[in-house]
Order: sequence, then C-alpha cells, then structure tokens
Amino acid sequence: MLRLNKNIICQFCGSGASVRKHGKSKSGMQRFWCSSCSKTFQNDYIYTSWEHQVKTMMMDFLSQGLSTDEISRKSGWPVRRVNKIILSLELDKA
Ligand SMILES: [Zn+2]
Repeated sequence: MLRLNKNIICQFCGSGASVRKHGKSKSGMQRFWCSSCSKTFQNDYIYTSWEHQVKTMMMDFLSQGLSTDEISRKSGWPVRRVNKIILSLELDKA
C-alpha cells in the first residue's frame, strides 16, 4: 500500500510526520502547522495536494501502459478505486 495520508501531508515540503493542528481560520477551516518547514496551511489545500499526488501517480502508471489489474497490484488500491481515479482523470481532460 502506498503511504498517502490525506490528513497531514505538508503542502510545502511533503512531510507527513511533522504536521500539527494549528487552530482554525476565520472561515472555520482547520489550520495546520508544519514543524519541518515552519509554514501553516489549511486542510483544503492538503486534500487538493493529495488528489494531485494520486492523479500524478496514476498518469505515470498509465503512461507505462499498465492495465488496471497491474496498477491495482502495484499501488495496493482496489481495482474499483483505480477505475474511479482513471475516470476522474478522463473527466479532467474533457
Ligand atoms: Zn512542511
């Protein structure tokens, strides 16, 4: 299984281990602080960045000409999830 944690990856340095909760923004969004690069960010950015990572990885698998079964084996994601991500990539292109 790939180590992707959608809750606590720092959008600046990619560190997952040094991120702490850091209060909330005016809009009520959870804020985080990364102790390895000393930056703060909000969790909507993390989600975007996690999505982006998954899609980048998936495009890489597809560019290698792998089938969904092979991608599922390599990534540890269920085939259904692989198909869903591929579908969302195709929607992005449209
Ligand atoms: Zn950081």
